[in-house]
Amino acid sequence: MRINRLILIVFVCMFISGCDQNGYNKSQGSTELQTKTIFAMDTAMQFQIYTSRSDIIDLLENEIKHLDRLFDRGNSESDIYLINNTSAPITVADDTATVINTALEISSQTDGAFDISIAPIMDAWGFYTHDYVIPDTSVIDELIKNVNYHEISLNANTLCTPDNMMLDLGGIAKGFAADKLVKIIEDNDINSGIISLGGNIAAIGSKPDGSQWSVAIQDPFNSDKYIGAVSVADKAVVTSGAYQRYFESGGNIYHHIIDPHTGYPADNDIASVTIISDNGTTADALSTALFVMGMDNAADYYRKHQSFDAVFITKENEIYITPGLKNSFKSENTFSVIE
Ligand code: AMP
Ligand code: MG
Repeated sequence: MRINRLILIVFVCMFISGCDQNGYNKSQGSTELQTKTIFAMDTAMQFQIYTSRSDIIDLLENEIKHLDRLFDRGNSESDIYLINNTSAPITVADDTATVINTALEISSQTDGAFDISIAPIMDAWGFYTHDYVIPDTSVIDELIKNVNYHEISLNANTLCTPDNMMLDLGGIAKGFAADKLVKIIEDNDINSGIISLGGNIAAIGSKPDGSQWSVAIQDPFNSDKYIGAVSVADKAVVTSGAYQRYFESGGNIYHHIIDPHTGYPADNDIASVTIISDNGTTADALSTALFVMGMDNAADYYRKHQSFDAVFITKENEIYITPGLKNSFKSENTFSVIE
């Protein structure tokens, strides 16, 4: 059994040119390229910002640390730890309230395919400790009784959950963090950069030469390859894929995206989902939810909402894109447009 974290790090480094583990500045005309790679929220994060401001990377890193302290289930001072280990209602920080509100909206729109009360199931599979195990059906049947986003109540900053419920923001926190970093970057009058928080990319403006950013989409069946790329400016590009975190046992693969209705890793025709959207928080939650829903339901969800674009790769290696990507998605493979 092993976790395949390196793939993600390599992926991030390959599509952002000039990757450097320690951070450096590289002259680009009147601005300078500021880059840094850090490890936070259990993943590699990379910043590439064009600016003359030398303190910008520190501001971004501080914000990530702040959010990690609020959301980290393992930190006894975090909001999520308190929620998971206290029976009384607790008062959470504004950032925690905002991310939970968005999570609940997406849960309701996706009929519970996205559900942050998935934590006890993640623990039972060992995804939190990385000590992987296939739980007995009876264990899953018992734990899944505590998975139900309807029972999370949030009034302003007061949060109530049933005693046995535990929350896990892993499916949405990085997208929320990306939105907050983009806000800091824009508030500092910077209009060119790209950040990558695990599978969550945010493009700020365009490249310094005015052309769009090209974000590569990994081939879910081959970590050395991409299946194509989308050209974007001012967008979040978020991918959920079974290949991002999994373990193998008895010839089967068990990955980290759980179907909250079964308690087992989502098992349908989708191999990866990439969401392209103005909003990184909803893009993150949706990439997870649509992965759980499977191709037909995900395409129906797109037809109903149309507030985002998406690239789906099926287990049969077919590629489907939404109509908004017709001019911006490039691939050597054949692909179909969802109508
Ligand atoms: P992502 O990589 O954004 O698709 O999110 C996967 C992470 O979200 C997992 O590592 C869990 O922490 C959490 N998670 C897994 N399944 C779900 C689900 N169905 N709804 C909400 N969060 C989930
Ligand atoms: Mg997600």
